[in-house]
Amino acid sequence: MKKIALVTGGTRGIGRGISKALKDAGYLVAANFHKDVAAAEKFHEETEIPVFSWDVSDYESCARGIEDVCKVLGGSIDVLINNAGITKDGMLHKMELSSWQRVLDTNLTSVFNMCRLVIGPMREKNFGRIVNMSSVNGVKGQIGQTNYSAAKAGIIGFTKALALESASKGITVNAIAPGYISTDMTEILHEDVKGKIMAGIPLGRFGKIDEIAQAGAILGK
Ligand code: NDP
Repeated sequence: MKKIALVTGGTRGIGRGISKALKDAGYLVAANFHKDVAAAEKFHEETEIPVFSWDVSDYESCARGIEDVCKVLGGSIDVLINNAGITKDGMLHKMELSSWQRVLDTNLTSVFNMCRLVIGPMREKNFGRIVNMSSVNGVKGQIGQTNYSAAKAGIIGFTKALALESASKGITVNAIAPGYISTDMTEILHEDVKGKIMAGIPLGRFGKIDEIAQAGAILGK
């Protein structure tokens, strides 16, 4: 029987690449998204992967969303890719509490929400694969990203703790901390900021979606 994989933020950018890579590897894939219905519909037309809209920062919405996915795909989640994320950059001395809260909720609390909801069934069946999307900026920090860097660093600690809790139940929990990848998220950066970032990348360019999507898919297998 095919294994069921759920990718949050799975209709655009890196998530889109992971969804497609897992489908190509023979998984039954569901892709979650938030508000960009047009992108999700286009993704569905191109890939035939079913799409489900909910806000991963909201626990009850995650519970309803996972229930829908399990009904449509006919089983519990074997592979969870926590990929959904946002940025709301700004220097700390100008940052609104709402930008802090939204970034922490969407990038970090979402990982608690989703893992908390799938971990029970995974433990019961003695199998599970969880991949959490951190970032290079969670490892080394970045100007204007105290919120994002804190959330992505939090993901690394969460991942290590859950991996220790879950290994004996046949569940692996890994995090990926990609460098800069060309997606809508990095498209919004000012050219001078991009130039400064690029100067620190030995390859001289941002990564491509397919280059990192394969890593997500491999750790999900
Ligand atoms: P994109 O902005 O291209 O796509 C983000 C995806 O997440 C979209 O599908 C979006 O849904 C979804 N999403 C955002 N908020 C929510 C929410 N509240 N509930 C459900 N879904 C949501 O991002 P990337 O592909 O660039 O990034 C993917 C992940 O990789 C993120 O966690 C990011 O932090 C991380 N990352 C990215 C890097 C990069 O350079 N691009 C580098 C390192 C890490 P919708 O389409 O509806 O808006």
